Amino acid sequence: MCNKLVVANWKMHGRLATNSGLLDAIRSGVSAQTGAARGVASRVVLCVPYPYLAQTRQSLEDSSVAWGAQNISEHDQGAWTGEVSGSMLADFGCRYVLVGHSERRAFFAETDAIIAAKFAAAQRAGLIPILCVGETLAEREAGVTHDVITRQLDAVLASNGSAAFAQAVVAYEPVWAIGTGQTATPDQAQEVHAAIRGRLARESAGLGDHLQILYGGSVKPGNAAEIFSQPDIDGGLIGGASLVAADFLAICAAA
Ligand code: PGA
Repeated sequence: MCNKLVVANWKMHGRLATNSGLLDAIRSGVSAQTGAARGVASRVVLCVPYPYLAQTRQSLEDSSVAWGAQNISEHDQGAWTGEVSGSMLADFGCRYVLVGHSERRAFFAETDAIIAAKFAAAQRAGLIPILCVGETLAEREAGVTHDVITRQLDAVLASNGSAAFAQAVVAYEPVWAIGTGQTATPDQAQEVHAAIRGRLARESAGLGDHLQILYGGSVKPGNAAEIFSQPDIDGGLIGGASLVAADFLAICAAA
C-alpha cells in the first residue's frame, strides 16, 4: 500500500477563533487514522493563509500533520513590499508551498516563467513546491489539454531541470473542476495523470516512478475513494471540503 498525500488548500478562508477548532479536529482525527492504519495512513498537509501559520504551527507542531503556504515570492529578500519569502515560510515550520495554483495564474497574472521562479525559490528555502497545473474548460473543449499541461510542466523543467522534481509534488487541477462541484471523472483524471508521469519519465525513468501527482477539483467524501483508486493518482488537493473537519477527515480516510 502506498502512502497517499492529502493537501488542504484553505484559500482565503479562516479566522483565529474558528481555525482552532478545525485544527484540533484534524489533528486528533488524523492521529486516530494513523494509529488505526499502523503507519500506512495518508500523509496530510494544511496550506493555510500566511497570518495563520503561527497558529497552525502551534496547533500541529507535535503531530503528524504538516503545513505550508499557498504562495511564495520568487525573491529571497529585499524591497518587495507585501511579498513573503521562502525563508520566512521556513521560519514558521512550513514544509510545503503551493506554486502556480490556477487562481494565481488567472487572477494575479502569474506566468509560467514566474511560476518556475517561485518553484526554484521554494526549493532554495528547503520547501517542497506543489506545482499546480490544469486546463480551462475552453482548452479542454478545444482538445488542447495535453498541450497546456505539457507547456506548464516544461516551463519548470526548462529552468529548474528534471532533478528538481525529485523534491516536488505535482497537482493536476482542471480549472473547470475547481470549486464548481464538477469533478473530472476518474478516467479523465487518470488519463492526464498518466501523461504527466510519462512526461517526467521521459526526462528520467526513476522520476516517473517516484513523483507524487495529486488530483484537485471538487474532491468530496463521496468521490474521493474512486478518484484515489486510479493508478496514477497519489492523493488530492482539497479546497472547499478541507474547511469542514468531518469532510476533510473522510477524504483522508479514503486516501
Ligand atoms: P475545490 O478546490 O476542492 O474547492 O474544488 C481545489 C483547489 O482549488 O485547490
